[in-house]
Amino acid sequence: MTSNEEDRNGMAHNDEDFSELPFKLPDNLPPEARAQALKMYKMALERKRKPFTLKDFEIGKPLGRGKFGRVYLAREKQTHTIFALKTIFKSELQKGNMEHQVIREVEIHSRLNHPNIISLFTYFADDRRIFLVLEYAGKGELYKHLQSAPYKRFSESLSAKYIYEVADALHYCHLNKVIHRDIKPENILLTYDGRIKLSDFGWSVHTPSLKRKTMCGTLDYLPPEMVLNKPYNECVDNWCVGVLCYEFLVGVPPFESKTNDETFKKICAVDVRYPAFMSTGAKDLISKLLQKNPLNRLPLPQVLTHDWVISKKKTFKAD
Ligand code: AMP
Repeated sequence: MTSNEEDRNGMAHNDEDFSELPFKLPDNLPPEARAQALKMYKMALERKRKPFTLKDFEIGKPLGRGKFGRVYLAREKQTHTIFALKTIFKSELQKGNMEHQVIREVEIHSRLNHPNIISLFTYFADDRRIFLVLEYAGKGELYKHLQSAPYKRFSESLSAKYIYEVADALHYCHLNKVIHRDIKPENILLTYDGRIKLSDFGWSVHTPSLKRKTMCGTLDYLPPEMVLNKPYNECVDNWCVGVLCYEFLVGVPPFESKTNDETFKKICAVDVRYPAFMSTGAKDLISKLLQKNPLNRLPLPQVLTHDWVISKKKTFKAD
């Protein structure tokens, strides 16, 4: 039996139980995420919608440090479901005048439901902290995996698989009028079975008009319109997919320089050097995404069907 058949069987088996859900789960949600969603829903019903408190969880090892607090491995005591519990200190938020950003992060994130986006199941607070109950990504930050890969590079087949998953998640965000705005390997997590999970919606913005004018994001990943402080739309994320693909294949982002000024100049001139070892297909994809005019950037559905992505993804073999 192929893993796909197993998935389909798993989903078919679980589907009976899902009739209880008051909402429809996406068809392509992996079986374990569907099972987890059902567990959470049943748990919420049993608790008669009583909010969680810290006492409902056993806290495990720290998984990482965020802007306003730590993220811990946690196990819900009744169902033994494993989560990542993100703590945010209210005092830290107030110091940085960041309450609005976190409320926005929570609002945006809790509405998103996609197999390549970390699920935010629920949240609760005590007098000092806010806790976000997140899906756990067992292999942690993609950045660490890239740093420890030979020459800090991924193979073309692994890069294509990751680019497909990132583009699929971002396309879903854009359909929901959400721009991520901070795509970089540090904000991408990996599950135990090597699937991409976008996280950190701290910078993302829900924008019905899809037009904003604030400078944000990380230097190396900034598109020209942001560097030049012009209004921008969801195409900023398409630029970042191009930068990400380059960094996966080369080990460094395309506009990295000694000074910010040099980086800005290179970004504005779209001064990209492709190493000789990069395939024509990869160059084609990256150059179609790294377009100065946002309207000329390859749309995400076309990233998903790009020849290089499709052919290299097919040759990917899990370890
Ligand atoms: P953040 O506050 O979202 O930037 O998270 C800080 C760090 O905690 C990340 O860089 C990850 O290493 C870890 N982390 C955050 N969320 C998760 C998660 N859902 N699963 C596993 N590790 C996580």
